[in-house]
Amino acid sequence: MTQFTDLGLGAPILKALADEKYETPTPIQAQSIPLLLKGHDLLGVAQTGTGKTAAFGLPLIQMLSEDTRPLQPKTTRALILSPTRELAQQINDSLKTYSRHVRLRTAVVVGGVSIRSQIRALERGTDILVATPGRLLDLINNRAVRLDELTHFVLDEADQMLDLGFIHDLKRLVKMLPPKRQSLFFSATMPKTIADLASAFLTNPEKVSVAPVASTAEKIDQRVIFTQTPEKMQQLSGLLKGDGVSRAIVFTRTKHGADKVVRDLGRNGIEAAAIHGNKSQGQRQRALGSFKTGNMRVLVATDIAARGIDVDGISHVVNYDLPNVPETYVHRIGRTARAGAEGIAVSICVPEEYIYLRDIERLTSRSLDLMPGADPDTDPRATFSSRNLTAPKRNGGGGNRQGRNGGGGQGRNGGGGQGRNGAPGAGRFADGGRGEGGRGDGGRGEGGRAERPGGGRSKPFRGGAGRSSGRPSGGSSRHGAAD
Ligand code: AMP
Repeated sequence: MTQFTDLGLGAPILKALADEKYETPTPIQAQSIPLLLKGHDLLGVAQTGTGKTAAFGLPLIQMLSEDTRPLQPKTTRALILSPTRELAQQINDSLKTYSRHVRLRTAVVVGGVSIRSQIRALERGTDILVATPGRLLDLINNRAVRLDELTHFVLDEADQMLDLGFIHDLKRLVKMLPPKRQSLFFSATMPKTIADLASAFLTNPEKVSVAPVASTAEKIDQRVIFTQTPEKMQQLSGLLKGDGVSRAIVFTRTKHGADKVVRDLGRNGIEAAAIHGNKSQGQRQRALGSFKTGNMRVLVATDIAARGIDVDGISHVVNYDLPNVPETYVHRIGRTARAGAEGIAVSICVPEEYIYLRDIERLTSRSLDLMPGADPDTDPRATFSSRNLTAPKRNGGGGNRQGRNGGGGQGRNGGGGQGRNGAPGAGRFADGGRGEGGRGDGGRGEGGRAERPGGGRSKPFRGGAGRSSGRPSGGSSRHGAAD
């Protein structure tokens, strides 16, 4: 088996890894580190949780620490772009850990906090700058930083960047980069839109790919509770008060829903905090901080806010609302069972979510187990095949659409007319943007027909041309939620 000592990393980095008790490289690290140290561009298909940060961070630290030229004011040698504030912060924390035995200056710039201290931090120049695109552009416009001395560029979570509407910001930023540079491009998925974007950024890239979360999800004990809407909170409280729940993330589909769950849990004597795009950066950091230190056991989150969050030891992931996009389920449950640990994912499912459950079970090719002790007669799934499952009519047509592109029930990337049951993996960008409120579907065009996995046509969903399907529709908020 490959060891860290086989990869060409220097003693100070190996020491930092030993301090962290990392014993062996993860597959993406073993594949990427030697290629990057040789100076190749890289196209990586991998998600957070695979050890991706060290895969690009360690070679970056090594190469930059060998560069003895003095830093020029207001420049950076390496730029790492991240779609969300939390992920940017986390990348910076990891880089600080890995570079603790070398002299490098790193900085993180994200929206939602004062720009002044960031301007000061950039004054003397940085070796590695981790940034979200919007704030970085603001700083460039303020002449607080320039990119003309840059030698290394990393675009992380490219699919999420596009989902969040950063494509124009990205294109503007890339025009500012010197053509002679090493570029790295990571994405959890690689549909054509992303592959095209990658080819515009990279020169003769080496390609690495590691198992998608869908396969790592097998380690997770996945359960379902069937209940009715008025009993949902009682079920959640009972679950969280149960044995073995040491650290739980509860997912809701909307920001408003997250706040309500926190309030209701409080009434039931369970302390929790919410993180979502309407919270200030300070509130989000505090909530995440007390969750990480163990002062607070329960974090309630929306999908975007939780994306990329890396907290060890999450015992339970609870889907208080089932996601209406099945891939989101896989991302959510991937918060537990990290780095080989085992975890439990519980979905609380009410009748209007049966259709979502069916989609999740199709995508993951498994049937979720009933909670131990639950009466098998309460399981409605036996009737799923014969039942005409229809999408819930929550929030009418308007829903929680909040994105700048979220008009008319159509998602940001709204390929017109595709229903929500598009075959798994078939171009997530063709079927409407997704965001904190779900995804915008029922788009324009051919009357919103639903393609069933397997190819057969289903009945068209209600709300075709230009109307919403009635499901909560998405579109994402760039400001607040992401940047
Ligand atoms: P990432 O995908 O970069 O977010 O990493 C996921 C988690 O795995 C983080 O908590 C890292 O600290 C941890 N990690 C990364 N590489 C290793 C390794 N080789 N051995 C053990 N843990 C690791």
